Amino acid sequence: MRGYSKLSSNNIYHEMIIDYSRNPLNFGEIEGCDVTHHDSNPLCGDSLDMDLKFEDGRVSDVKFRGKGCAICIACSSVLTEIVKGKSVEDVRSIQKGDILSELGLEHLQAVRIKCALLSLKILKFALYKHLAKTHTDGSAESLKEEASGLY
Ligand SMILES: [Zn+2]
Repeated sequence: MRGYSKLSSNNIYHEMIIDYSRNPLNFGEIEGCDVTHHDSNPLCGDSLDMDLKFEDGRVSDVKFRGKGCAICIACSSVLTEIVKGKSVEDVRSIQKGDILSELGLEHLQAVRIKCALLSLKILKFALYKHLAKTHTDGSAESLKEEASGLY
């Protein structure tokens, strides 16, 4: 927490979202990344690309870029922070609630949920692409379904 302690919890989350959207974390691209994926929310105008690099079964680096509303960019920042350094299995088990609760967005309206979860959807598709290269037994398939079922 970066000095939000005097604010009420709703304000804390609001401040965090504004702060992350102005100064996004892990914004950019990774040269020589292992996998990249793009998706968008046409209704809001959010449009993101995410690059991932893996090393020894872990995400050694992750970056995203593109344009999006404050909620979209804030959630992408939070998600990429969570993902960095984690094992593929840990990344695979990330649920939407893990991201929404970080920014107090559990009760977001259906239309804004897409903004909050676009980066998670992209992450799951990217991980699917990566795993499908080596897991030829079809064990990566559930990731694709999970990504499509997020919203
Ligand atoms: Zn949006």
